Amino acid sequence: MGSNAKIRNIKGTRDILPEEALKWRRMEQVIREKMKAFNYEELRFPTFEYTELFKKSTGEDTEIVQKEMYTFKDMGGRSLTLKPEGTPSVVRMYIQHGLRNRSKIQKYYYIERMFRQERPQKGRFREFRQFGAEVIGSMSPQIDAELIKLALDIFKELGIKGIRVNINSIGCPECKEEYIKALKEFLSPILNGLCEDCKKRFITNPLRILDCKKDRDKLNSAPNTIDYLCDDCKRHFSDLREYLDYLGIAYDVNPKLVRGLDYYTRTVFEFIHSELGAQDEVGGGGRYDGLIEFLGGENTPASGYAVGMDRMLLLMPEIDGDKGIDIYIVTLDKESDIAGWKLLSGLREEGFSCDKDYLERSIKAQFRESDRQNARWTIIIGQEERKRGVVKLKSMETGEQKEVLLNMKAIKEEISAKGS
Ligand SMILES: [Zn+2]
Ligand SMILES: [Zn+2]
Repeated sequence: MGSNAKIRNIKGTRDILPEEALKWRRMEQVIREKMKAFNYEELRFPTFEYTELFKKSTGEDTEIVQKEMYTFKDMGGRSLTLKPEGTPSVVRMYIQHGLRNRSKIQKYYYIERMFRQERPQKGRFREFRQFGAEVIGSMSPQIDAELIKLALDIFKELGIKGIRVNINSIGCPECKEEYIKALKEFLSPILNGLCEDCKKRFITNPLRILDCKKDRDKLNSAPNTIDYLCDDCKRHFSDLREYLDYLGIAYDVNPKLVRGLDYYTRTVFEFIHSELGAQDEVGGGGRYDGLIEFLGGENTPASGYAVGMDRMLLLMPEIDGDKGIDIYIVTLDKESDIAGWKLLSGLREEGFSCDKDYLERSIKAQFRESDRQNARWTIIIGQEERKRGVVKLKSMETGEQKEVLLNMKAIKEEISAKGS
C-alpha cells in the first residue's frame, strides 16, 4: 500500500455507532411489535436481484431505474442490481413460492436495506433502510386504511409527532386513460416551458410529470385525477375516506399526488413531515392491483408502502441510553482476578450483564470503570475475602456495602432481594 491516507466510508453510506444503534434497535422493535399486532408476517429477501425485475416492476422510465440503480454484471454476464425498493422482491417471492396457496390474503412486512445513487442530503442516503408492509389478495379500501393506521401507530409509539397524511386516487387503468388524455391536453401548450425530463415523460408516462419538483408551480391548474374516476373507483375512494374517518385519522386529499412508480392503481398516499424540508416525504405507497399479473402471476389485487427509517430517525426524540450493566467485578490481586473471571462466567450464565477489568488496572481505575459502565453493583474480591470464602457486594445506587458468600446462589439472592 503506497498511500497513508486513511480509508473512509463511502459517500452516502453511514456508520452507526452504539448510541445511535440503540435508536435503531428501538425502531425495529416497535415495528415488529406493531406488525405482530396487525398480523403481518416477516419476509427477508436478497440484497440483489436480476435487473429486469426492477425494470419491469418499478418501470423502465422511472428516476429510480434510469438514474439511481446500482447495476453490475456478474461473472456469467447477467445484469444484477442492488435492490432500490422492496415491492418488486415481495411480489417475485409471492409468485415464485406460490404463496397464494397458503391463503387467499397475505400480509407481509420487511425491514431491509435499499440502494439508490441519489444525491446525499438530509435523511437521504445511498444505502438506506426501509420498513414496508404489503397486503396481497384484497381489493378492500379497509386494507388501505389499515396500512395507513399501521404506519401511524408505529410513528406514535416512537414519539414521532407532526406526521401528515396525504391521499389520492389515480383510478383503475380505464379511468387513468381518460385522465391522461385530459392531462395531455393541459400540458401540450405549456410543454416547452417544462424541464427536459418532463418533455420525455410527456411521451413515456405523462402522469409522472406531476411528480416533478422543478415544475411544480406550473402544474397548479392541471386537471385532478379524482375528477376522472369511474363509478367503482369513486366508490372505492369515498369508502377509504370513510374508513379513515372511522379510525380517527386526519388526512388531506392531495389531487396532484400520483407517486412515481408505474404500478400504482386507485389509492396512493404519502406520509410527510415539515421538518424534513423540501423533500418532506417520510414514506408512502398505494395500491398496485395490476403488478402481480404483470409479473407473471395471477390477477391479484395488492396494496402496500415503504417508509424511510433514516428519515424516521431524524424525527425520533432522544431516548434513554442503555441502562448499563448489572455487575462490575473489581479484583485486588492476580489470584482474585482469576476467581473474579470465573465468577463472571457463572453470573453471565445466570443472565446478568456483567464485566471486569482486563488491563491489570489499579483498584481506583477499576472503580472508575465500574462507574463509567454504569454498573448497578460492584463485586470486590481480594486475598482476604477469598480466604474467608466471601466477596464484598456494593450497591452503586446507595453506596451500601456488605459481605456475601462467594457462590452464585448467595450473590443472586442478595441482588434479587434489592429488586432489579
Ligand atoms: Zn376506475
Ligand atoms: Zn419537470
